[in-house]
Amino acid sequence: MKSIYFGEEHEAFRKTVRLFMEQRVAPHAEAWETAQRIPREIFREMGDAGFLGILFPEELGGSGGDVFMALAFLEELPRSLTGGFVAAVTVQEFIVTGALFHQGTKAQQTRYLVPSIEGKRVGAICISEPDTGSDVAAIRTSARRDGDSWVIDGAKTWITNGVEGDFYVVAAKTSPEAGAGGISLFVFDSSLPGITAKRIRKMGWHCSDTAEITFENVRIPADALLGQKDRGFYYIMQTFALERLVAAATSVGSCDLALADTLSYMKSRRAFGKPLDRFQALRHRLADLFAELSSVRQLVYHAAWLTQQGEPAVRESSMAKLLATELNKKVADECLQFHGGFGYTEEYLISRFYRDARVATIVAGTSEIMREIIAKTDVDGVTFPSVEDHEAVGDEVVGDEVVADEVVAGEAPPAVVAAPSAPAPAPPPAPLRKPETLEELFLSLPSRLRPEKTEGFRGRYHFRFKDSAHPEWTVVIDGPSCVVERGIHGTADCEIKTTEPVYLGIENGTQNPQAAFLMGKVKVSNVNALLAYTKAFQRLF
Ligand SMILES: Cc1cc2nc3c(=O)[nH]c(=O)nc-3n(C[C@H](O)[C@H](O)[C@H](O)COP(=O)(O)OP(=O)(O)OC[C@H]3O[C@@H](n4cnc5c(N)ncnc54)[C@H](O)[C@@H]3O)c2cc1C
Repeated sequence: MKSIYFGEEHEAFRKTVRLFMEQRVAPHAEAWETAQRIPREIFREMGDAGFLGILFPEELGGSGGDVFMALAFLEELPRSLTGGFVAAVTVQEFIVTGALFHQGTKAQQTRYLVPSIEGKRVGAICISEPDTGSDVAAIRTSARRDGDSWVIDGAKTWITNGVEGDFYVVAAKTSPEAGAGGISLFVFDSSLPGITAKRIRKMGWHCSDTAEITFENVRIPADALLGQKDRGFYYIMQTFALERLVAAATSVGSCDLALADTLSYMKSRRAFGKPLDRFQALRHRLADLFAELSSVRQLVYHAAWLTQQGEPAVRESSMAKLLATELNKKVADECLQFHGGFGYTEEYLISRFYRDARVATIVAGTSEIMREIIAKTDVDGVTFPSVEDHEAVGDEVVGDEVVADEVVAGEAPPAVVAAPSAPAPAPPPAPLRKPETLEELFLSLPSRLRPEKTEGFRGRYHFRFKDSAHPEWTVVIDGPSCVVERGIHGTADCEIKTTEPVYLGIENGTQNPQAAFLMGKVKVSNVNALLAYTKAFQRLF
């Protein structure tokens, strides 16, 4: 099929990948599924073939390829015939290594990233925990500083490459009281004392090693910190943005394969004197599936194209992930049905496709979380920062999903607010108008309090504004009352640091709060407390 996205070079690479999968991986898929493991040599072979560092620069041993080179690879990866292999490879190449590339020091990259690209070391990303998955900000694994070391305690679960992997990138709380703003990433060897990993038995992805890991008093060096302390949440979100595109592209590839395999079965299987593909009832369902796949594929390519332009593509990548993985599930189900009873046996590939497709709508952000993100953009009108925005503030490029965190908690976008002097029982609601100064803004607060939202709630907030004529404000919400004072008073539940123009912009609806938060234009000590604050006041827009 002609494409505006793929050139000759991409197609040549696609053919190489396809051949490799068909010759070097697929013939072993059954054995690896039964053994529930993937031999290490195949990572090495893929490293030698230049498959494990497509997006990384040549100085690090990568191929310096573009996003569509990665897409060609991802669409062909399912020709390995096992979703477990797809998972192991994509986690290694696109998820674990992402943070190492963006935030790793030279020493960390030499020790972990370069050998990962070569296929000599395999890594795992450890975020999910027994008590929390979608709600990343709620993780409890802790990292405590002790002299020259960090000490890690906690438990992780569902960790791909977790038992056999050589190293882990681990999300841990370094400032437990700070919610999302208190998470840091660490990278260290999986062989350290205090680490135990146990394999989880699963419905599908059998050859993929999925682990439950415990960290008990695990002592790691100070330089195991990846990037800056307390910035881990943003680094994770950056990884998630690509992870969605990866999941969408591999789902498209899986659909291609399931449909091709099923069509070939239907042409050879006969009923009532003719091949199955001659029955209109089946042909029309196939036609629907092909049509849906074509449209989803174009959405995936569009999201990839935006990503290539440096756009955050949060909306499009979330839509692509949602639709491609849901379609993968539907295609597997329909194709199994077209196989009749044989589809339900281990003899036919479609039963593995069916098992493996099921998890795609759960990993890399569930379908529900994708819908929440899309609702944020398309219902609430939230926009996300562009690369230029990030560069303007000297920040690293971050994907999106502060939104997901917020969405998971079921909250509206944080619109930061405040108000001035004098204790005040709420006066009658004044007509809302957009304040032009901090003073006006803070003065409007008591009249905007929504007592129905603050029953039984108490919170003290400190606001600090850089370079402002009125730089410090304290706001206390106590049930139905709101007290605003100039200056800093008492011990805060939440401290907000920003600038006057940013804060006025957020309050007036001209500045995206997530974008400001992601870019470090607003610093918040306790995100949950701020979300409660946001709900307490009537919005100005
Ligand atoms: C095979 C496998 C491999 C994995 N590999 C890794 C890995 O390598 N590293 C890693 O860190 N994690 C990994 N995961 C974990 C995966 O990311 C989580 O399973 C996923 O994020 C969902 O979290 P959860 O399972 O805790 O579900 P929960 O968060 O408990 O959600 C349960 C259900 O509630 C829904 N839900 C939750 N919040 C909301 C909301 N706000 N609105 C609407 N619905 C909501 C969810 O969509 C879901 O349907 C893996 C999981 C599996 C199954």
